Amino acid sequence: MLIKRRDTIVQKTRLQSMLGELSSGVLDRRAFLARAGIAAGAAGVAGVKLGSVKRATAAAIDPIHPIKTVKSVCTHCSVGCSVIAEVQNDVWVRQEPAFDSPINRGSHCAKGASVRELVKGTRRLRSPMKLVNGEWQKISWDVAIDEISAKLLKIREEQGPDSVFWLGSAKFSNEGAYLYRKLAAFWGTNTVDHQARICHSTTVAGVANTWGYGAMTNSYNDIRNAKTMIIMGGNPAEAHPVSLQHVLAGKELNRANLVVIDPRFTRTAAHATDYIRIRPGSDIPTIYGILWHVFENGWEDTQFIAQRVYGMDDVRKEVAKWTPEEVERVTGVAGEQLKRVAYMMTHEKPATLIW
Ligand code: SF4
Repeated sequence: MLIKRRDTIVQKTRLQSMLGELSSGVLDRRAFLARAGIAAGAAGVAGVKLGSVKRATAAAIDPIHPIKTVKSVCTHCSVGCSVIAEVQNDVWVRQEPAFDSPINRGSHCAKGASVRELVKGTRRLRSPMKLVNGEWQKISWDVAIDEISAKLLKIREEQGPDSVFWLGSAKFSNEGAYLYRKLAAFWGTNTVDHQARICHSTTVAGVANTWGYGAMTNSYNDIRNAKTMIIMGGNPAEAHPVSLQHVLAGKELNRANLVVIDPRFTRTAAHATDYIRIRPGSDIPTIYGILWHVFENGWEDTQFIAQRVYGMDDVRKEVAKWTPEEVERVTGVAGEQLKRVAYMMTHEKPATLIW
C-alpha cells in the first residue's frame, strides 16, 4: 500500500514539475496537457460531483481552468470532519482538510485523507471477482448478479429467508444503508445489521446499563477543558488522531495531566505526563486500586454519589479487598503510582476518563 501511494506522489511530482516548466515557459500549454494526460490518465480519474455520482470526463488537471472548492463532510465515521473538495470540470481532483472546522481543525485521519480514493483509488476493485479453482477471475456485473441471485433464491427456497444474514458496511452512506435494509426486508428477513454493531453492541449494553446512555459521555469540549485526562486501554495517536488533537490541546493549553494506562508504551503514552504500565487483563483490579486510595482518603464526591450513583456501597465492599499490595501483585503497578492518579482525578478537576 505504501509503495502504491508513492506511485501517486511520483505522478504528482511529475505534474508539479510540469507546472514549474509551464510557468517558466519551458513547456507550452498543449505539451503540458498532453503529458499531464498520461500522468492523470494512469491514475484512472473517475469523478464525483458532490451529492451525485457521475462518470468523469476530464482527463487531467488543467492549470488554466478554474478550480472550485466545495466544503463537504468525510463519510467514513461519525466524527464528521470537514473536507474541502477541489473540483475542476465537475471532477473532484484534490482534497484538503478544513482548517476552520472545530472538529478536525485542519487534519484528517488516514481514512479521511484518502476519502477521494473511494472513487479514484488505483487499487479499487472495479469489477466483480469470482474464485475459480483457487484463482480470482474478473466477471461481468450481469454474470455476478445472475449467479449470486440464483444461489440466494435456492437457499431461500430450501432454508427460508432467515437463513441469510445481511451485514452492511461501515462505508455505506445513509442512503446505501437505507437501501440495504430495504433489500433485506423485501427478501423477507430481519437478520440484517451494520458492521458498527461489532464495535458498539458491547459498549452500548455496558454503558447504557451503567450511565443510562449508550455512547460516550464526554465530548471533545470536555476533553479540551479537562485538567486531568485518563486514557485507559486507548491509543488515539494511532486509532483516532483527530481526537488526539483535542487531548493535546487540553494538555498543552490547560497544562492538564495526561495519564495513559496501558500494557504497551503506545504513541499516545509517549505524550503522557504519567504512564502506568499494567499487566494485560488487569484493568479492573487497576480501577479498584485507584478507588481504594479514593475511599481510603475520603476523596470521593459524596454529594455526587448521593444524588446520582446507585449501589456504591457494593462497590466499596469490593474495593476494600483490593489493597495496594494486592493490586500491585495482580497488576504490577505500585500503590504510590495509583495513589497519585487517584489524587489527580479527584483534586485536579474537571477530570475525564477515556477508555
Ligand atoms: S475521524 Fe477520520 S474517518 Fe472520521 S470523519 Fe474524521 S477524517 Fe473521516
